[in-house]
Amino acid sequence: MQTPLDRMMDFDLTEEQRQVRASVREFAEKEILPHVEQYEREERYPLELIAKLPPLGLMGPMIPEQYGGSFSDVLTYGVICEELARVDWVIASVVSVSNSLVAGATLAFGTDEQKERWLPAIANGTCLTSACLTEPGGGTDLPSMETTATKVDGGWRITGTKVFISHAAHAGLFFVVASVDRTKKHKGVTAFLVDPKATEGITIGDFPMRTLKRDNLAEVHFEDAFVPDDALLGEPGKGFPVLGAALDTGRFSVAARCVGQAQRCIDLAVPYALEREAFGQKIGEFQMIQQKIADMTCRTQAARSIVYQLGRMKDAGVPRASMEASMSKLMASKAAVDNALDAVQIHGGYGLSGEYEVGRLLLEAKSLEFGEGTSELHTKMIAEFMLGIRKQ
Ligand SMILES: Cc1cc2nc3c(=O)[nH]c(=O)nc-3n(C[C@H](O)[C@H](O)[C@H](O)COP(=O)(O)OP(=O)(O)OC[C@H]3O[C@@H](n4cnc5c(N)ncnc54)[C@H](O)[C@@H]3O)c2cc1C
Repeated sequence: MQTPLDRMMDFDLTEEQRQVRASVREFAEKEILPHVEQYEREERYPLELIAKLPPLGLMGPMIPEQYGGSFSDVLTYGVICEELARVDWVIASVVSVSNSLVAGATLAFGTDEQKERWLPAIANGTCLTSACLTEPGGGTDLPSMETTATKVDGGWRITGTKVFISHAAHAGLFFVVASVDRTKKHKGVTAFLVDPKATEGITIGDFPMRTLKRDNLAEVHFEDAFVPDDALLGEPGKGFPVLGAALDTGRFSVAARCVGQAQRCIDLAVPYALEREAFGQKIGEFQMIQQKIADMTCRTQAARSIVYQLGRMKDAGVPRASMEASMSKLMASKAAVDNALDAVQIHGGYGLSGEYEVGRLLLEAKSLEFGEGTSELHTKMIAEFMLGIRKQ
């Protein structure tokens, strides 16, 4: 159903960007959406669905053509993440982890050999990736990480545990951060590109979750795992800038994903409100339901506007836009959660039944308030930027 919001969301996109949205939406609704619930019920990672992405250029929208990718501009990448997330958290996460975090860090800090080795494989879908950042002791306070990297002849030995790792069991490349000197806090943090299949000392275990069973989130243990010198990404002790650059784009794509989820809640709640009846009328005729529809619409478009603005800043060549990335991530994840809550409420008890999608969206949206920086962290960062305590 065409809504007035469709006109607004596309208003200042180029013709090419509109076409990308239309084609990704058509693909996602036809090829992914009908299968999502089944993968979730079976707790099965959607490898078969992921395999449909590379032929359409959807595995490498931030990877330049030179490395086999389909990069056109950052805003288009955001639209792709938005449309994929509108139908499936996991598929959108596959694209955003690989492109923003792993390919993004490799493009910005990798050697020519690292770029040649990993980027084409990511873009053609033969190499899925994981970002191994969070530890049992905490994900927000990354400078205190306990995973260590010790220099040895010809390489490094990594020891430690990472938790909540998306895609790990299927990944051919891990972006790992470890400390070369824990006393130096963030100045000890070092980034590595690790081939998990070729590295002894890595074990991957299940990480029990209440949601996203189809993502098979993992615990990754590194026990004296040897990685060669050429696995180092950037310089020892300079992993924080690598991480910062990766997360800057990561937060953009996560925020775009949140917009997609918020939009999906509208797309499900509006027809329901027009169909479901109580007291002899459609529930959409009740003012309190209308209030929710109006709130959902306004917060989605407000979030979309700030996310697109961030994309345009990046396209204009602004190298780091950390405050804007925090604002986008904070606002868009809140929109996704609030819309999911409203959509569930509009569905009444059916909002939590297995028959309807909105209940699943609620927990999945909530997870987006943690990944790539919690809402509290982003709130703190925005205030610190404004107060001059933190610099871009
Ligand atoms: C579905 C899902 C997928 C994920 N995928 C990945 C992945 O692929 N790779 C990966 O590395 N991680 C992943 N994560 C982990 C995620 O990044 C972390 O959950 C997040 O960084 C927060 O870390 P934590 O859970 O340890 O919470 P903590 O850091 O322990 O924080 C707990 C609470 O304290 C608050 N807090 C902490 N410090 C401050 C402060 N200074 N001021 C105010 N409040 C503060 C936090 O905001 C939070 O509310 C995933 C998480 C989820 C839910």
